[in-house]
Amino acid sequence: MSTLIKNGRIVTAADDFVADVLIEDGRIAAIGHNLAAGNGLETHDAGGLLVLPGGIDVHTHLDSESATSHTVDTFASGGRAAAFGGTTTVVDFCNQIRGGSLLAGFEAWRRRAECTPIDVGAHMIVVDFGPSTAAEMERLMTGEGVTSFKLFTAYPGALMVDDGTLLQAMRAAGRHGGQISVHCENGHIIQMLVGEAVAAGNLAPRHHMLTRPPLAEGEATQRVIALAEVTGTPLYIVHLSARQSLEAVAEARRRGLAVHAETCTHYLFLTDAEYDRPGFEGAKVIMSPPLRAAEHVEALWRGIAAGDLSVVSTDHCPYTFAAEPYGAKHSKRAGGEAFHKVPNGAPGIEERLHVLYSGGVATGRLSASRFVELTATAPAKLFGLYPKKGTIAVGSDADLVLLDPEARWTIRAADGHGRMDYSLFEGFEATGRIKKVFLRGEMIVEGDTWLGREGGGQFIARGPSGSL
Ligand SMILES: [Zn+2]
Repeated sequence: MSTLIKNGRIVTAADDFVADVLIEDGRIAAIGHNLAAGNGLETHDAGGLLVLPGGIDVHTHLDSESATSHTVDTFASGGRAAAFGGTTTVVDFCNQIRGGSLLAGFEAWRRRAECTPIDVGAHMIVVDFGPSTAAEMERLMTGEGVTSFKLFTAYPGALMVDDGTLLQAMRAAGRHGGQISVHCENGHIIQMLVGEAVAAGNLAPRHHMLTRPPLAEGEATQRVIALAEVTGTPLYIVHLSARQSLEAVAEARRRGLAVHAETCTHYLFLTDAEYDRPGFEGAKVIMSPPLRAAEHVEALWRGIAAGDLSVVSTDHCPYTFAAEPYGAKHSKRAGGEAFHKVPNGAPGIEERLHVLYSGGVATGRLSASRFVELTATAPAKLFGLYPKKGTIAVGSDADLVLLDPEARWTIRAADGHGRMDYSLFEGFEATGRIKKVFLRGEMIVEGDTWLGREGGGQFIARGPSGSL
């Protein structure tokens, strides 16, 4: 099966040129001018369109269940939404049950992920470090292609780990090409402020933001960087949102430490003014860390320009606003309306490329190549997917996105392809629209038409993580 994409403007992190792309057996077989169209060749005219490597979203929570809530998108629905948004690979989180086996958590995740229509990899969340944890981490890294582990300095009594656990996990990961990712917020600071807010009867959504100050994120980021410096293990700061955290990352990078960071689409385009929405509407933006004041948003854009932020991901952690039709446990109402009972998380898997292209490239803030680097190439490199994924090169998987840079349209949740009933970007006037998406050479999206299939995605065993 061969496919030819003619006359597209091919954009990689390094190059930007017009050429044809020949696909054979799911991989890119040739890139050049006037590649001959042979018999039985499926041909797509990409004149006037950008040809981008499929997006890679390294921060998603699909079909993810906790004691009180459960994200609404399955791998089937979330993968379909991702594909319509130009993302052909996600690296999703599987988790250890406290006191339980990492491998058991991974196996359960693999079963849930079987229905994925796009390619998937897994990070492992570690919540405690027992006698067999180091050996299980080794097995995951060397035998299963799970080369990144996430720990939390937030959520005391649930996900939070102490510095000793972080150090042990860093040591274990560092021995076998692994990377440690950390959700950096000081859980003790937040716990105290939440307790005070609740005692004072301050339960509205905006108190979610007020009880998770930038300082709590900055402190945890600094501390975790120090721990990583002691162990020498590559560190990846997830969903960085605050100027203080960015300054810590920038300082570490100036000193040559293997520290990288991502931010998320919403932190680049929305501010804490969103918490002023009336009534319970503010619950739609209850995610952690919260949206920040404009000075932080501007700092993040400077961090992208300076190269201190390497990746833009989504932290897609979807709970519907309405309890129906999927049930309260899948919604923002899972715990009632008090801010500290609302499941933390927001959607974005479908919007990421469109919002960042429109608000970054079309506005002149990012070059098309930098856009590709942030959304595909750097995530592929940092998480052991490169050069199979994340670029357009001979031998790479033919995960390709054709984007019309001139198209203008409006983002509406009602037009989305997952299960979500709201979008953080409702009404966003976008420039640039994805026309076709290919996964390993197969067209899975054509305009509004879904051509992918459940189970059509593959699990990708990843190589060593932690360097660009
Ligand atoms: Zn997350």
